[in-house]
Amino acid sequence: MCGIVAYTGSREAYPILINGLKRLEYRGYDSAGVALMQNNNISLYKCRGKVADLEAFCEDKNVESHCGIAHTRWATHGEPNDQNAHPHLSIDGKLALIHNGIIENYLSLKKELMNKGYEFLSNTDTEVLVHLVQDIQKTENVDLIEAVQLAMSVVIGTYAVVILSSDHPQQLIVAKKGSPLLIGIGKNEFFIGSDGAPMVEFTNKVVYLEDEEVAVVHPDKKLEITNIKNERKKPFVERLELQLEQIEKGGFEHFMLKEIFEQPKAISDSMRGRINTKKDVVALGGIMEYENKMLKAGRYIIAACGTSWHAGLVGEHLFESLVRVPVEVEYASEFRYRNPIIKEDDVLIVISQSGETADTLAAIELAKSKGATVIGICNVVGSSIARNTHAGSYTHAGPEIGVASTKAFTAQVTVLFLMALSLARKKGEVSLSMYHHYISELEAIPAKIETILAKNDYIKQIAQEFINCQNAIYMGRGVNFPVALEGALKLKEISYIHAEGYPAAEMKHGPIALIDKEMPVVVIATEQETYDKVVSNVQEVKTRSGKIISIVSEGDEIVKSMSDFCIEIPKTDELLSPLVASVPLQLLAYYIAVARGCDVDKPRNLAKSVSVE
Ligand code: GLU
Repeated sequence: MCGIVAYTGSREAYPILINGLKRLEYRGYDSAGVALMQNNNISLYKCRGKVADLEAFCEDKNVESHCGIAHTRWATHGEPNDQNAHPHLSIDGKLALIHNGIIENYLSLKKELMNKGYEFLSNTDTEVLVHLVQDIQKTENVDLIEAVQLAMSVVIGTYAVVILSSDHPQQLIVAKKGSPLLIGIGKNEFFIGSDGAPMVEFTNKVVYLEDEEVAVVHPDKKLEITNIKNERKKPFVERLELQLEQIEKGGFEHFMLKEIFEQPKAISDSMRGRINTKKDVVALGGIMEYENKMLKAGRYIIAACGTSWHAGLVGEHLFESLVRVPVEVEYASEFRYRNPIIKEDDVLIVISQSGETADTLAAIELAKSKGATVIGICNVVGSSIARNTHAGSYTHAGPEIGVASTKAFTAQVTVLFLMALSLARKKGEVSLSMYHHYISELEAIPAKIETILAKNDYIKQIAQEFINCQNAIYMGRGVNFPVALEGALKLKEISYIHAEGYPAAEMKHGPIALIDKEMPVVVIATEQETYDKVVSNVQEVKTRSGKIISIVSEGDEIVKSMSDFCIEIPKTDELLSPLVASVPLQLLAYYIAVARGCDVDKPRNLAKSVSVE
């Protein structure tokens, strides 16, 4: 959550900061601010609202500067208003600080600082940091770097911070724990960002800061990194794998729509190089080293949050059907606080688009401490989860900017399928002919999705019928029950219509009481083992005048005849059906939200990378 950008060098800082914030706005967008070094003084501009509001606010201000920090916030402590927006200033105005994360012991620190006479202007947890650093600097009589190291040793929680000081007008101090931060290296200039997007056109040389590291960034000096114990660290320079066109809308009205349309490519890219037809195996390079542990696992535990949790539920079907080993799927946030029983032969599989999900990171630490093997599936290369798991496989979906996840979900399901198939083959659970069947079915998925995307206009028409509804129900069974959950989540997230997903047979145990002629019921009734049962469930809803929107396999007549609206999708193997069935649901949610005038790429109260607990 929250986007951080900073720059120091010879270019004009303000345009870099504002453009960078716009690219990071998916991370938070309730308020924004910028602090600029001007004639050895800090100028601060911040306000409630989106980055465009900050830009408008700064329009008549002098923003000339070559060094500055900027922030787009997703409020955790204190409502989104002008005072709570970052940066926060020290009392004397000599330090400005931006922060991503949560300072868990901020109340006790705040009390101590208030007793010492520090006045707080905001309700944020963040503001303690700037006063704490200055207080340590004064009381311990140390320089700013040491003060930051000491301050970060006493705070509990997560932070990525950048500090600007008018005593060192060209210098930035950066520290991180639990929230992502990278430093882009240019020629006599540095860029700092929560991800690589703000710096992509300037440099591809980056250093991912590690937890508890503190960096001193100065255009005329080499990058210096220590940790909070003041031990020197060697900067590890990596290549930034990101292209400018990947983070632009490319003619689409919204990132979300672009990303829905990118799914054939995202799925192909997630398969590419991993299917070895000569050797009849699936080879996931990233997990090779731990494959034996995975093969010997007594149980797989999948931990994730949100859409990734839904991918995990699909994964449960894939792993149990193919690998024949028990699977448990956990909300990462619940798993970590439940004192779960974790054995050494358990394999924890964590799934996260951003690779920064705080709850999932905590689940990893817990499983590691009990001796379990931890495998990651994330989309962002070099992310904290990618670095903190024993091994893993990336989804190659490319940057996902729309807050509501689409292509990351189908890419996650693709990787879970490949992982399960690879293990199943090695365990002898899947015959060679079935292996060939699955591979050819999987390879056909991108083209099948293209045919669904071609129904875009029809789905848009259906959406018009539902713009005024208050509630919606999604039903599915088996491997498509998670798809129903995901479809409902998409609608909730971006249109603010209350929607719930149910296993179709559960309707009669309660939710069917909600059905009347106002209630849209979206049903996934593709060709599957329980098709006939789903038909009965649809009939039960129809009898009670519910409005049926069905997703059926091409050629279906039965459910189609009972439906008010019917979207036919290509047939595939049942285990792979979530990859096709989820696409029309994404489009439906998208067009309903657009028709309701919602900001689909930046839905209210949400942020993309949930790096706070
Ligand atoms: N906890 C801080 C606040 O509420 C930072 C939140 C963020 O990461 O955006 O201001």
